[in-house]
Amino acid sequence: MQTNFSLAQLADSDVKESETILRKCVHCGFCTATCPTYVLLGDELDSPRGRIYLIKDMLEKGRAADERTVKHVDRCLSCLSCMTTCPSGVHYMHLVDHARAHIERTYTRPLLDRLLRGVLAFVLPHPARMRAALIGALLAKPLRHILPAKGFLGRVRALLEMAPSRIEPPSTIEGVRIFPAQGPTRKRVALMQGCAQRVLAPSINEATIRLLTRLGCEVAVAEGSGCCGALVHHMGKTEASHAQAGANIRAWMKLWGGAGPDAIAINASGCGTTVKDYGFMFRDDPELKAFAEAVSRRTRDIGELVTELGLGGARAPEKLTVAYHSACSLQHGQKLGGVPRKLLVDSGFDVRDPAEGHLCCGSAGTYNLTQPEIAAQLRARKVANLQALNPDLVAAGNIGCIAQIAAAADVPVVHTVELLDWATGGPKPAALA
Ligand code: SF4
Ligand code: SF4
Repeated sequence: MQTNFSLAQLADSDVKESETILRKCVHCGFCTATCPTYVLLGDELDSPRGRIYLIKDMLEKGRAADERTVKHVDRCLSCLSCMTTCPSGVHYMHLVDHARAHIERTYTRPLLDRLLRGVLAFVLPHPARMRAALIGALLAKPLRHILPAKGFLGRVRALLEMAPSRIEPPSTIEGVRIFPAQGPTRKRVALMQGCAQRVLAPSINEATIRLLTRLGCEVAVAEGSGCCGALVHHMGKTEASHAQAGANIRAWMKLWGGAGPDAIAINASGCGTTVKDYGFMFRDDPELKAFAEAVSRRTRDIGELVTELGLGGARAPEKLTVAYHSACSLQHGQKLGGVPRKLLVDSGFDVRDPAEGHLCCGSAGTYNLTQPEIAAQLRARKVANLQALNPDLVAAGNIGCIAQIAAAADVPVVHTVELLDWATGGPKPAALA
């Protein structure tokens, strides 16, 4: 694609990067077929190619974002299915991230929209605030039926519908500490505890720590580490996302006397995709560039790390049929969709793949709260495809997908790591009890 940026514009590192990305696009349109919003809405402007044109025009003219561009960029899930399909290697993720930051800087959203996004950015990355908000949502949940399905109140309704009907107590393993390896130490691993996941499903970190220590890892939760920054990053809030990411980089690289961990284990693949991109995010930061690159290099999805360690004699305690949902951030963001799936198969579970496995479930960070109508359609489609397999349960590797699918599925939805922990001597996942 031909571009027309001025030399002055190209002096900006983000614009330069976007120019390189835009030049790779050959307008072929292959990506449209696998884009969930194009599949649902059938509008070229809700396809990757359409959004690329809108973003190009906005950036090239150096103008403030307009309502039309914002509408179609907001509808993008950042599922990255288009990156898997694109034959030209267009890095859509970096392009849309740049567009979102530009929109955040140059566009004034309607008041209620700003309010909702401000509340989400204030609450979700902080476990204590998230817990308090969930208690409030639980109390208000019975009122959701009187709210309309559309507009601002429709988003409030979606928020109440997504609130779990039970709030888990804080885990007994919460907090900064080191868990020793069982037997000789094979690896020193920093566990990213996450933010929303710690509150919604503390059992996932508990299973991860049991599994990793059983496989010979010393596992540390670093002081000062927290949310990966993805939630605000995808809202275009660059300053906030860099602050959260920077805190993690410093916290992890201080571990083990400043040597840092051998690996950073991440059991929420949405976070993993972002942490693996820290090197890019901090490419112009003289203080953190090298550390950020080291963190990205050492980051492993939990499935990836367990594969490196080897599962040995894992045995599924019960012959269960598992419908495997490959999170977009795993299959498109990190190209690892088959890795956790293989671990489940090797452990003896009967694993089945749904139709349209490449399509997003509609969770996508805060998408199911900011775009509830599209998210609900995608969830219905995903749940129907999963349940068509007649599974005993659904397994996934990302808390966002787990919460999204569990809100509509008739079978339990568990994290892959909970099944692997169970197959290697851990307790049966509570959701299956
Ligand atoms: S990231 Fe997903 S929703 Fe966005 S353009 Fe690409 S395929 Fe479509
Ligand atoms: S598939 Fe790639 S090259 Fe083709 S239109 Fe989509 S982004 Fe551009």
